[in-house]
Parts: sequence; structure tokens; C-alpha cells
Amino acid sequence: MHRVLVADDLSPEAVQILRDAGLEVDVRVGLKPEALEAIIGDYDGLAVRSATKVTARLLERATRLKIVGRAGVGVDNVDLEAATRRGVVVMNTPGGSSTAVAELALAMIMSLFRHVAAATASVKAGRWEKKRFQGRELAGKTLGVVGIGNIGSILVDRCLAMKMKVVAYDPFISPEAAARLGVTLSDLEGVWRAADAISLHVPLTEQTRGLINAGTLARMKRGAVLVNCSRGGVVDEAALAAALASGHLGGAALDVFEPEPPPAGHPLLGLDNVVLTPHLGAQTEEAQVAVAVAVAEQLARYLEGGEVKNAVNVPSLPREVLAQLGPYLPLAERLGSLAGQLLPAGPTEVVVSVSGDLAAAPTRSLASRALVGLLRHVLDTPVNEVSAPAAARERGLALREERASAPQDYASLLAVTVKGQGGEISVAGTVYGKTEARLVRVGAFRIEAVPAGPCILCENDDAPGVVGNLGTTLGAAGVNIARISLSRTDDRTRAFAFLNVDSVPSAQVLDQVRALPHVRSVRTITL
Ligand code: NAD
Repeated sequence: MHRVLVADDLSPEAVQILRDAGLEVDVRVGLKPEALEAIIGDYDGLAVRSATKVTARLLERATRLKIVGRAGVGVDNVDLEAATRRGVVVMNTPGGSSTAVAELALAMIMSLFRHVAAATASVKAGRWEKKRFQGRELAGKTLGVVGIGNIGSILVDRCLAMKMKVVAYDPFISPEAAARLGVTLSDLEGVWRAADAISLHVPLTEQTRGLINAGTLARMKRGAVLVNCSRGGVVDEAALAAALASGHLGGAALDVFEPEPPPAGHPLLGLDNVVLTPHLGAQTEEAQVAVAVAVAEQLARYLEGGEVKNAVNVPSLPREVLAQLGPYLPLAERLGSLAGQLLPAGPTEVVVSVSGDLAAAPTRSLASRALVGLLRHVLDTPVNEVSAPAAARERGLALREERASAPQDYASLLAVTVKGQGGEISVAGTVYGKTEARLVRVGAFRIEAVPAGPCILCENDDAPGVVGNLGTTLGAAGVNIARISLSRTDDRTRAFAFLNVDSVPSAQVLDQVRALPHVRSVRTITL
């Protein structure tokens, strides 16, 4: 019989699920690391929340262990590398707290529209200020949602029921999926322009860090309210405080901060028109039970029938497949990542094509790995080769694999193409010798670049002096160029430079590059 150790406080329901599945369950909450190390060798499964640290040292002693189940999303308390090395599957429970977070966001919008927090403080202070706290109704107003994944889509549903109109921005959702939800898709500018209330539900990525800043705040409707229950770094809190103090924004509610908790003297703490909560999004009885029940069900199914759900680490591939695909696996992820950062609007299909010698290898792993690279930039939940295909399908993104044994200029070529409403982007790479990965095509441009680290992509007119100006501007800003690859279309109407640099240039430096003669567009990506 399989034995499961519950090392953090799950819920009685969750423990019962494990027992009902015929597992022998011990609940030993709050054990010191040494005590845990002394007994872990007896167990096949381990269930934790965030308190128990599943370290490499603990895993070394876990000779029978097959699975670690984490009730919740973040797996920072589990040494994933050590677990993978030892063949232990680690699962989490994404989505268990989505309703809780969406309801908090709705509560915040309503509090702001009706001044609930400020009015409470006023009554407690002995005042009775009916005029000052005249509010607004949700019905007929426009909600702007940025990010319509698990949480954003639940908020959309609830706000439609409140008779709001909803406009949303999510670069990674197909128009069909948006239509099913009942939202109008727009670009970000459209959201800022139209929304009376804006709610953020995006992961923290290079694209979303500082998304709400002085510039974007200035473009929001006067009197609009902003809600952030996503991640602290998405909002520039000082700029938000300034927009509230000036009266441009009508109010703001934050559940997440950077850092947490906000330090004493933080400018938001002294303002009336704000609602602040201590990262309470997932803190409901129901969510805590839901993630515990989910982890128990997943553990039971895995130990009884081998079913893998929400695994965050990846079983290693058979040795022969690894030998065949070798450096093409990380290349696939880099190409997916590049495509993910250049993503066209409303993506609907990803095509992973291989040609030449590589066409003889099983390509499913390459396709999954490309999806991992792509989805990493858009999803909050960690994805891996096992979960990426399903996560893509859920978002209306079809995956197609193509293979052609005839070589196309290279002995082996791997290409990732993302097609969408806003056009398509295609990137390709190869491996020189046994290990030297090269990016050989970005859109229409043939290049030869290293797909690693910070890169600058610059489109320009095919005119003399552009590269010199680029080098001088970056050099003056202390950005060292490691490699540069130049390309142009056959008709010489467009030229392109791909630069591998040692550090990411600041937004200011990018603006300087943008202002150079003949430069059409410039952007940075990190691979
Ligand atoms: P999710 O991965 O299901 O959805 C995120 C959505 O954001 C996706 O649809 C994705 O396409 C979209 N997105 C990615 N980059 C974008 C961009 N640049 N612009 C617009 N949209 C973009 O994630 P989720 O489960 O809905 O979680 C959303 C956020 O809520 C995450 O940041 C998560 O960490 C946070 N969260 C907070 C709490 C809390 O306690 N406050 C609890 C759980 C989750």
C-alpha cells in the first residue's frame, strides 16, 4: 500500500480523499527539518502547502518518494531540480484560488465606486458626510481588464452580470475565445480610453513590469479607478500615488505591492481614495480547501493510476531521444520564447517545422518545448513540456508539426511560426557542429545570431551610417555589443540588425536609438 505524508495543514476533506483512495496517510504538521528527514524514507507521496521546505537534502533521504503535491501555485519551497534528478514528480494546483481573487477584485471595484473604506473611516471619526461620498453605479459603466486568463475571465463573467460593458486586452487570446467570454478585445490604448474601472490580471513578465506608469496613468479616463490583484511590480506605485493625489484617477485598490508589505511612509498609505489589502486574494476558506482537495485528488490519481496532472517538473526523455535532439531542445525553447516576445495579436496557431536530418527524429518533444518557451511569456502558471500543449489548447491555440526531409539551406533547420489575427511571425534556427545554436531567420530577415541573453532587434532603412550611429549611441550608454548580425530584404527596401548585448538598455536609451536617422523600429528581448 502506498503511504502519504501530509506535512502541512491541508484540510480534513483532503485527508479523507487520500484515505478513501486506499492510501495510508500520516498527518504530521510542523515537523522540524531533521524530524522530517528521519521519516521521509517511509513515504511514496508528500503533500505540502508553502511551509515545508522540500530541499535537496530531504529528497536525498526520500528513497521511496514518487510525488510531491503542493497545495497552491508557487513551488519556491520545492527544489525542483533535485526532485527531477531523483525522478520525483512535483505537482501544484493552479486555478484553485481564481474565484477568490476575482471576487476580491470585484469587491474592490465596488468599494471604490461607493467609497466604502473612506466612508467607514469618516463615520468612525464621528462625521456624517453624505455629499462627499456620493458614488457611482457599476451598471452601464465599462470595465477594462488587462489579462483574461483564469482570474480575469471570472471577473469578466461577474461584471457582465453587474451589467457592465467589458473591454479587454490580452495579446494571447483568440477573438473566438474572447467572444465566448462576451468581451470586446482592444489594444491597451483602447482600454485606457474606454474604461471607468481597470483591473489587472497579468503575470509579472518583462512586458508587464511597470505597465502602469506615469505615461499610461495619464492616458486613463479622468476619474477612472484602478485595481491590482495580480503582482506588485506591474504598477509603479509612486506614479499611481501621484495620479491619485492630483485627482486624475478617482481611486485605486491594491492587494499586491512591491515590496510587501509596503514600507512605512509609502505615498499610498496617506491617501483617502485607496483600498489596500495584505495580499488577501487567495485567502478564502473555500480557496484554501479547494487547493487542498485538488492536491489530494491529484496525489491519489498519480499513486493509484499514474495519471499526471499539473506537474511542474518534467520526466526526462529516453536517452536515445535526448541524444538525437540534444541541443535542438533548448533551441526550440529559445525560438518559442523569441516568437512569444514578437507575438502577433490574437494568435491562433503555432507551427513547429523541422527539415533536413532533424526530420528523422521524433519531433513532438521539440514542439512541446517550443510551446514552453512561448507560453512562459504569457502565463502565470509555470508550464513544462507536459502541461504546455494542454495550456495552449485551452487558449484556443492550435499546434501543428511539419517535417520535410529535404534540407533547406542547413543540414537541419527548426522553425517556429505563430499565426494570428494580427499577421504571423516566423523564426528559425539551427545548430552548428554539436552545440553551437544559431538563430538564422527572424521574419523575412536571414541572420546569424546567438539565441541567448539580452538582444536588440532594430529595423531600419538600408542606408549608410545606421550601424555606426547604433554603436555610438549604445556605446555612450555603456551597453556593450557582443555580436551584431545585419540583413536586408532582396529588394533592399528594409534592413534589420540583430544585436547580442551584454546588458538590457534602458527605455531612455531605446528612445535615443528610435530617434536615430533611418531607424524604423527597435525593441529588446531576452532569450
Ligand atoms: P493566467 O496565466 O491564467 O492568466 C494570465 C493572462 O494574462 C493570460 O491570459 C495571458 O495571456 C495574459 N497576459 C500575459 N501577458 C500579458 C500582457 N503583456 N498584457 C496583457 N495580458 C497578458 O493567470 P491567473 O491565474 O489568471 O493569474 C493572474 C495574476 O494573478 C497573476 O499575476 C497571479 O500571480 C496573480 N494572483 C494573485 C493572487 C493574489 O493573492 N492576489 C492569487 C493568485 C494569482
